[in-house]
Amino acid sequence: MPTTRRLLLISTPVGPLGSGLGGGVELTLQNLCQGLRARGHRVTVAAPEGSALAGVPVVEVAGQLQPTAHTQGRNTPITLPGDSVLGNLWRYARQHQGEFDLIVNLAYDWLPFYLSEFFDTPVAHFVTMGSLSEAMDEAIRQVARQFPGRLGAYTRTQADTFGVANTFVILGSAIDLAQYDFCASPGEALAWMGRISPEKGLEDALEAAAMAQVPLKILGKLEDANYWQRLCDRFPEAADCYLGFLPTAELQQVLRQCRALVMTPRWVEAFGNVAIEALACGVPVIAYARGGPAEIVQPGVTGWLVPPDDVPGLATAIARIDQLDRQACRRQAETDYSLDALAARFEQWFESIIQALER
Ligand code: UDP
Repeated sequence: MPTTRRLLLISTPVGPLGSGLGGGVELTLQNLCQGLRARGHRVTVAAPEGSALAGVPVVEVAGQLQPTAHTQGRNTPITLPGDSVLGNLWRYARQHQGEFDLIVNLAYDWLPFYLSEFFDTPVAHFVTMGSLSEAMDEAIRQVARQFPGRLGAYTRTQADTFGVANTFVILGSAIDLAQYDFCASPGEALAWMGRISPEKGLEDALEAAAMAQVPLKILGKLEDANYWQRLCDRFPEAADCYLGFLPTAELQQVLRQCRALVMTPRWVEAFGNVAIEALACGVPVIAYARGGPAEIVQPGVTGWLVPPDDVPGLATAIARIDQLDRQACRRQAETDYSLDALAARFEQWFESIIQALER
């Protein structure tokens, strides 16, 4: 058993944990904490005020939320609101750094990358999205140069977007299988899950479901209200398909009864936690071959990969769902995405950083 470590995990400043504004990072943080604690580590999470995390102490930090990186342009300068929660989180980290062996950054924001060199306690960065802005790319590359080994990513495809892919440790994601029940005989509907925001391409799922004449259930945080309104104008059935943003226990009850999950990312999806949640319920995944899902789906076994932006291709894949084996989906979740395996990978990464300094 490796040494017990004292770890400070700093969450995303775009929203409180549990709000859904942080997207997949929220579930990843929950799962990671659970896995690390089960391996004996002492984990503290610092997150925006109002955050809740099952079974983990959270230091709630006040301040104004940060705009999400994917809503900013590639060349937009870095902005921080007054009384920034991002600034306040990292002030907390600086003041308390002596109590920890390692600080782990989960924010996709410029400031923590810039601040790395001013900390005595090492800072590891788990990067949760692909390249979105020049300023962030430069900040990430600076850490790669100055602190090799301290960058982690979900997938190889995601890391490739930064131009310094070889310096990333690829860590993947995981699922707490006990939270998701297998369902052998689903109903007629397909599922679409995620933040309702343009980079997630919900319109393609609505169009494909209409072409295939199957009902669609939409679950997720309504992040961009104007975008949603445009979708409702174009697809009058959309409002009836939308079931809201559900907590994991309710989400899996709906999801497991669906014939497949449809994923339609317009961007290089860093991972796609929703894909492994579906597999855990025995639900196959039909996804554009773009980013993380292309590294997850086993075509013809646990789903189908469709050329990006090919809506008729989605409809064709929907017609072939019956060729997929729901048991194989659950099995893939069990073998590839176990919590303990995720925690072991992170632990190994943390040890390599801490031991490099102790040498
Ligand atoms: N999600 C949820 N309730 C919902 C729909 C989605 O909690 O009703 C969560 C889901 O569990 C997943 C996250 O939203 O963890 C979406 O994460 P993903 O990695 O798929 O995409 P991201 O938002 O990070 O781009």
